[in-house]
Amino acid sequence: MIIIYVGAKYIMSLKLLDGLYNKIDKLKGFGPKNLILFDKICGNRLLDIIFHLPTSLIKRLKVESLKEEYLFKRIIVSGKVKNSWFSYKRPKISIVSIEINDQLLEIIYFNVNKNWFSSNFIKENEILISGELTKKGNKWQIIHPDNIQSINSKEIIPIYETTYPLTSGLSHKKIKTAITYSVSTVPNFSEWINKELLIKYNWFNFNQSLYKLHFPKTKKEVENNDLYRERLAFDEALSRQLALSLIRKHKHKIKQSTLKNVNKLKYKLINNLPFNLTKDQKNVLESIYKDINSNKRMYRLLQGDVGSGKTIVAFLSIIHVVENGFQGALMAPTEILAYQHYMLFKRYEKILGVKICLLTSKMQNNIKESYINDIKIGKMNIVVGTHAIIQSNIKFKNLRLAIIDEQHRFGVYQRLELSKKSPNTDFMVMTATPIPRTLVLTDYGDMDISIIHTKPKNRPKIKTISVSIPRMNEVIKAVSRAIKNQEQIFWVCPLVKDSEKLDLAAAETRHQYLNKFFPDKVTLVHGKMDSNNKEKALHQFSKNEKSILVSTTVIEVGINIPNATIMIIEHAERFGLAQLHQLRGRIGRGTKESVCILLYNQNIGEIAKERLTVMRETNNGFIISEKDLKLRGAGEILGTKQSGGQMFKVLDISKHENLIKIANQHSKLIINKNPNLIGEEGKRIKNLLYLFGQDKAIKLIKSG
Ligand code: ADP
Ligand code: MG
Repeated sequence: MIIIYVGAKYIMSLKLLDGLYNKIDKLKGFGPKNLILFDKICGNRLLDIIFHLPTSLIKRLKVESLKEEYLFKRIIVSGKVKNSWFSYKRPKISIVSIEINDQLLEIIYFNVNKNWFSSNFIKENEILISGELTKKGNKWQIIHPDNIQSINSKEIIPIYETTYPLTSGLSHKKIKTAITYSVSTVPNFSEWINKELLIKYNWFNFNQSLYKLHFPKTKKEVENNDLYRERLAFDEALSRQLALSLIRKHKHKIKQSTLKNVNKLKYKLINNLPFNLTKDQKNVLESIYKDINSNKRMYRLLQGDVGSGKTIVAFLSIIHVVENGFQGALMAPTEILAYQHYMLFKRYEKILGVKICLLTSKMQNNIKESYINDIKIGKMNIVVGTHAIIQSNIKFKNLRLAIIDEQHRFGVYQRLELSKKSPNTDFMVMTATPIPRTLVLTDYGDMDISIIHTKPKNRPKIKTISVSIPRMNEVIKAVSRAIKNQEQIFWVCPLVKDSEKLDLAAAETRHQYLNKFFPDKVTLVHGKMDSNNKEKALHQFSKNEKSILVSTTVIEVGINIPNATIMIIEHAERFGLAQLHQLRGRIGRGTKESVCILLYNQNIGEIAKERLTVMRETNNGFIISEKDLKLRGAGEILGTKQSGGQMFKVLDISKHENLIKIANQHSKLIINKNPNLIGEEGKRIKNLLYLFGQDKAIKLIKSG
């Protein structure tokens, strides 16, 4: 067996696939620079390159003579070089005239290399030309043929030619060479999909599908393109589902101590809340307690719309482990949010008689040290902080429950690492907004799912309107009215670019602008501020000392200011649906009716327009998440980006929902029948897992 170096880890691979783990610089003519470039588009191992699939197809027509009906088509034609004129003079147009029987064809080049030109166009030589046929006056022309070669050349100009996504610095030819080579090294795999499925969906085998996608030769093969692609997409979906099943089994297998199920403190907390828990909150809590009490480790995703009341569920879950003798931790994506959770928990610290601390990166060292010590000896019951808590070296005496709030950016394998680090800890991840069902299957199949479907009753209405930027004065009037009523306003500035600097500039400009209208009433937060100033600004706002909070998107998740009734989002067309919905979730948290104003640029695209329409039409995060997935094309799949950057190679979750469902069922059948993937069938399945990079899941079988 060969050991392959991948990142910082050695991963054993099956012998059959070994060649595919080689990098493309093994091939003559490919060096270190190419490794970097290929890494940009698909990865630089042969295994990555074979899945760099074509995005379009050129079709060529083989013709004997030039006819009107071939105009603007790509043709392949042969002829004799009659004459050629090379030009150094600007605009450096070089011309070759070709005789095709009794017709003349002009080939035109701009800025062509002299040596290349004269060695290829030798008088009286027969050549083969391919390119788009055009006409100027009465003259047939091909401008910059895509191929010319001697009639005696052994190379064939293909009738069909696939074309690929490029990156600057890599020519199409180079990519084709890499793909041709990589695909030629793919071993012949034995089938891992069962016969019935293959027949039902008319799928071809893996090797054939891959080969024909890259190199279709006949019309039939071109027509089968979708079938080939579907087969590979299914393979990828299946490998993902299998991996999730294996991870799931592994995680839940770990035994924990059972809990005595003491329930005093929770009732105390519930009795002291200013509201009654909703039915959904109660149901969800029941399943959480049951899981925590059992000797199997919990791994749960808590889904709920913005404002559905997930925080209190988290708090009650943590109190449960605390009153049963363990520690709990709540982690938020930002310090602001961690602080807010801490303040909520802190309110009940005395009543409950538990110790709660907030850990941030910027707190005084001596205080931090003492907290860390208290956590280690078990004097501290609850720790609130950012994700740094689990990534740092803080040692808990007996952490039983870790809750990760407003976060689904952890990928499957990151969660696996986390679970390995703390074998005695139950985990719960809470989403910021609902996740589309397909994505739940592809990204959370390793977890149990709980859903809070309905929000607490008597929530004030949120109206959503879209207003074009020239109508800014109306917006200012609305803001002015709200301020007179003692209400508060969030003003979110646009994403200018993927640049914090520019975003910041936009926010500062807006801050100054609004300050002119409403002197002393505006405050600003942005990502570049240190946490003290950030906290100060938010504190002022939450105390209603300032009426308007101008911000970049740092306030996106979680912030709870019940007195805020207006949310203004500038350049709303630049935001994704999930983000817009999350931002809108910052209002309508108190008792007063609220308005979300989507300010947009007048010239916006169709998809952006539709997003704004969706926002106006519904306030239901579950519906919005499904629409979001539909509106997004492949390549910009936020969900997968969010879940740790793992993009699928072939699978398109916005298109292949059906395949994912079938793969989900199919994977269960396989794992139930052969949980340790043994024997010949197991080997075949493992090949599939390796092909799609699910190596870590295979390792779990070995470690038992
Ligand atoms: P999210 O699910 O978005 O994290 P939060 O937990 O921040 O929502 O809750 C939003 C608001 O709803 C908070 O002010 C919280 O106190 C309140 N809340 C939570 N549960 C209930 C309930 N059962 N009835 C009324 N209000 C509730
Ligand atoms: Mg929340």
